[in-house]
Amino acid sequence: MNGVRQMIDGANRIVITSHKNPDGDAVGSGLALYNYLTDKGKDACFILPDLMPQNLKWIPGVDSIVTYKTSPEEADKIIANAEILIMADFNSSSRMGDAVKSFDASPAKRILIDHHPFPEIRTDVAYSRPEASSTSELVYELLSELSGADVLETTVATCIFTGIMTDTGCFNYNSSSPNVFHIIANLLESGINKDQIIDNIFNHFSETRLRLLGFSLYKKMKVIPEYQTAYIWLTKKELEAFNNQQGDTEGLVNYPLTIDGINFSALFTEKDGLTKCSFRSRGTFPANKVAAERFSGGGHLNAAGGEFHKTIGKTIYYFEKVLPEYEQYLEK
Ligand code: 5GP
Ligand code: MN
Repeated sequence: MNGVRQMIDGANRIVITSHKNPDGDAVGSGLALYNYLTDKGKDACFILPDLMPQNLKWIPGVDSIVTYKTSPEEADKIIANAEILIMADFNSSSRMGDAVKSFDASPAKRILIDHHPFPEIRTDVAYSRPEASSTSELVYELLSELSGADVLETTVATCIFTGIMTDTGCFNYNSSSPNVFHIIANLLESGINKDQIIDNIFNHFSETRLRLLGFSLYKKMKVIPEYQTAYIWLTKKELEAFNNQQGDTEGLVNYPLTIDGINFSALFTEKDGLTKCSFRSRGTFPANKVAAERFSGGGHLNAAGGEFHKTIGKTIYYFEKVLPEYEQYLEK
């Protein structure tokens, strides 16, 4: 931690980045760092590889985010000038999307803050703890230490709460450590409005998103009881018919797991030229193993993802074909 303090104290231009398809933890941890550093007078910038979901667009500092996909030249200039790069909530460079080249070309010192297992990123300091609930929890620890006895600003605390709350599915999983609740208590002391944050995130979706959920569960979910598996697959045409926006399918992959006897679930969504894959599992079934071995991805034991550079039809055919090879990991 000392190393991080010295690096931050000695630098002014600091760039923070996170992963593609950013979720609450990516945006929350990144903006917590951004708000903290700008409050301290640093010239900080948070660059995200692509657009963020609608339900996170209220988080303090969100208007200052530079999106690589829509402003690559501006982002390139900022990255080229950075003295420090902080990478939050991802463990492999491929998660940076098109921004990876500029980050790789930068001579700046690098700090990784992440809770995914098996980090594969070149960094000068790695603050990596797979047992943590979220990257936001690690950012809380880092900022608490950097700020000493000072209580965190409400804006910073709001970002951290958003990350921990979303990455634990509202404290449903990865949150059995009392430490998580000590942190939440401290965030409440910082003046966060917990009820408002939860309302902002869960109660302001579009009508079409909810109808897409209904359609997916009714018409597009296949259950394979012998492999304790269920999956949902959505073509580009179907996604367009429901006016799919960035983040609209987030959380969909969790629904099949609520069926009794289902321990592995997948969501396949068709994009231009590839199929995005999301995996969730219960117990010891290694979703990240399937993602890494078969779908050029990775992640946590129970939440992982990847992609397959084939049509969605070929992707689900392949998925069903390889599934029996993971039978040994299913509950007896
Ligand atoms: P989601 O299904 O919510 O998109 O992703 C769940 C988790 O899977 C993420 O937290 C991340 O760890 C991992 N993940 C998702 N997509 C990819 C991917 O394309 N590559 C890698 N390495 N991990 C991914
Ligand atoms: Mn996370």
